[in-house]
Formats: sequence, structure tokens, C-alpha cells
Amino acid sequence: MDNNTFPSQHPLVAHKLSLLRSVETKPKKFRELVRELAMLLCYEATQDLEIELIDVTTPMGAAQGRELKKGIGLVPVLRAGLGMVEGIWEMMPGAEVWHIGLKRDERTLQPMQYYANKPVQARVQVCLILDPMLATGGSASATVSLLKEWGVSRIKYIGLIAAPEGIARLHHDHPEVPIHIGAIDSHLNSIGYIVPGLGDAGDRQFGTG
Ligand code: URA
Repeated sequence: MDNNTFPSQHPLVAHKLSLLRSVETKPKKFRELVRELAMLLCYEATQDLEIELIDVTTPMGAAQGRELKKGIGLVPVLRAGLGMVEGIWEMMPGAEVWHIGLKRDERTLQPMQYYANKPVQARVQVCLILDPMLATGGSASATVSLLKEWGVSRIKYIGLIAAPEGIARLHHDHPEVPIHIGAIDSHLNSIGYIVPGLGDAGDRQFGTG
């Protein structure tokens, strides 16, 4: 594996991912798990964010505090990435959310962009791409390319489950983008689904399966 891919080693992530995968898990529980997993993986992915020193007054006196430097962009890839926003946003309420709509052409498996809400000023310290399934890697790679076109220089990818093919593609196209992922599965099937994966992450969140 390349040295810019970080599969989570955390038991909580493994535990919640197993619940998420189960065919028995209904949309309400599925959404809760996506939210929780996104927070846990975001925690791992943001260890090196920039901070600024601030002065804080406690009831006992002066303390030196730290605050996150402004300018964090959360970039959910519609629609499955939406469920990863909320929990992360609660932890970082100052973050901007930039929506990008990509869907797979089911014949070619290539990503097609149908929506992109370009911020007026795309100036942030980092963008976190949120997309649960890193399957072919086509959407993730296209999203990184778009963010680079907008002038974003620091980009990280956070996902729940990856196929080795998706990791290889994203790493090949954008080797500087760290990949933070809950688990790496066996392979992609002939219609681009991750095996064993969890099925369609969008359908399972939104009850449309
Ligand atoms: N998208 C999904 O939702 N699931 C997969 O397995 C692959 C892509």
C-alpha cells in the first residue's frame, strides 16, 4: 500500500463499520452510523490541521489556548456524502460546506458532474472530501481535480470503505492527497460495487434501495 493511505486501526470504527455493513441495518440506524463514523474518521484525519495560539481566561487565571485556524471546507459528494457532513460540522461549526454532485454513468462507470456549488472565494487551509465509498476512484479523482481548478492546495479524502482499485486510482492521479478510510475491502465487482462493502451507500441512507 502507498504511504499516503491511512486505514483506521480504531476498534470503534471496526465495530461500527460491521453494524453498517449488515443487511439487517435499517436506514435510520445506517444514517446514525454514517454520522458517527464520519466523526471518528475526521478526528483521525485532522490531527495536523493548522492552529493559532490564543489567550484564554479561565476562572483561575490566564491560559494559553489554541484554536483551529479558519478556513476548512467540507466537500460532500452528492448524494451519499451528505450523511457524513452533519457530525463533522458539529465539531467544526465554522467550516464551509461546498456541495459537488457527481454520478456514475452506469455504462462507462465514469463520473459525470451534474452540480457544483463553487464558493465565491475558494480560500481555505484544507478541504475534506466526504464520500463513503471509494470504489473506482473516478469520482474522488474528479472532485480533487475540480478543487484544484478552484485553487485549493490542501485536500484530504475521508471515506468509510475503499476498494484497492479506488485507492490505486486516486493515489495515481493525486498522490499528495491523503486517503483516510475506515476499511479496505477485497475488490470491485463487474458493476463497480465494492465487495463485500455495504451495497449502495446512498440508497441505504435515504431508504431508496
Ligand atoms: N457506491 C456505493 O454506494 N457502493 C459501492 O459499493 C460502490 C459505489
